Amino acid sequence: MPTTPLELLDLLLTRDATQRIRLVNAALASTMMALAALVMHLMTWLGVNDGTGLWIWTVVAVLSLVAMFVAIRLGWTARLDDPSLAMPQLLCAVASAAVAYRIAGAGHGATLLLVALVLMFGMFGLRRTQAWLIAAYTIAAFALAMYSGAREHPAIYDPHVQAGYFVGFVVFVCGFLAVNERVAAMRQRLRSQKSELATALERINRLATRDELTGLLNRRAMAALLDAEQHRSLRAGHQWSVAILDVDHFKRVNDLHGHAAGDEALCAVARVCASIMRKCDSVCRWGGEEYVLLFRDSDPQLPFAAAERIRTTLESTQVCFGSTTFGVTVSIGVAAHVPGEDAASTLSRADRALYEAKAAGRNRVWGGGTEPGRSSGI
Ligand code: GH3
Ligand code: MG
Ligand code: MG
Repeated sequence: MPTTPLELLDLLLTRDATQRIRLVNAALASTMMALAALVMHLMTWLGVNDGTGLWIWTVVAVLSLVAMFVAIRLGWTARLDDPSLAMPQLLCAVASAAVAYRIAGAGHGATLLLVALVLMFGMFGLRRTQAWLIAAYTIAAFALAMYSGAREHPAIYDPHVQAGYFVGFVVFVCGFLAVNERVAAMRQRLRSQKSELATALERINRLATRDELTGLLNRRAMAALLDAEQHRSLRAGHQWSVAILDVDHFKRVNDLHGHAAGDEALCAVARVCASIMRKCDSVCRWGGEEYVLLFRDSDPQLPFAAAERIRTTLESTQVCFGSTTFGVTVSIGVAAHVPGEDAASTLSRADRALYEAKAAGRNRVWGGGTEPGRSSGI
């Protein structure tokens, strides 16, 4: 059971942000109409009119809006095109204001303020066509109220005054349309700015986390992943490993085939790594012709097998660039994370293993210290 005012408010308006906005608007509309009813009753009490039909009007005007609040709160409108019931609320409120005009007697001028309030509230949620529809409907409803007043009670609804009111009223509704146009244009501008911002953010995010040449993650993104993995393993206690891959004698590739061919070879290495590694693993271009591979939730043997597959696949792959074709080999150092160790230390053991793989003759996979000490190569 809710006890504090805030809990009661949550119960009434829900915690869902979108639903809450709809309900706050509907509650405001009901409250405004209740206040307008109070003014109408005050006028009758002051003897401005005889109060004919006032109670029926009060019940219908207020209850129709309250019923819509309840329908929104119960979620009955959630599947509608207009779940906030903006149009039905406006149509009801304008009709109520027009009837109020007709039963207010000598106080009818005051009800024009009521319709001004209704239109002002409705303006912000309306599309262009809806605004035009509401404008035409409002003019028609008040034209009818003014005409019937002037016809049946010309002493109170002086026909000349009504004609003046009507012209003023039409000018006012046209003003409402003009303001609505501006609000709609502002909303459109905001929408397109929001989508441009989202695109720019996506681009910035990509630039910040991706390597431009290969499209792989970059060093910054991988460093964050390694840290996250280390913290995850602290809590969950699972095993993970890293490998550092370095292209052998890459300087020679550049020297022999040119820098652009070297770039193509770097992309080929990236493609092979990405195709062999599991979806749950990550690979990045660490810099130059070096790549770091992260193997998640793996026993220490799996990274060796994957690294070996990468090595043999690359060994038998030909890089094509223009009319030249050439091969590259890679050396890979692998290290399994040791519980309690930070990510930088695991990486540094993988780097030492890579150094040993190079020293042992290149084109081989080497283990980094604490794992079963496997190594492979030509
Ligand atoms: P090792 O087998 O000992 O690794 O020898 P290596 O020649 O591969 O190593 P070294 O560090 O001497 O040379 C790396 C080369 O990689 C030098 C550099 O010009 C080249 N390189 C670094 N980044 C890029 C790049 O983005 N594109 C190209 N084409 N070459 C690059
Ligand atoms: Mg290197
Ligand atoms: Mg190298």
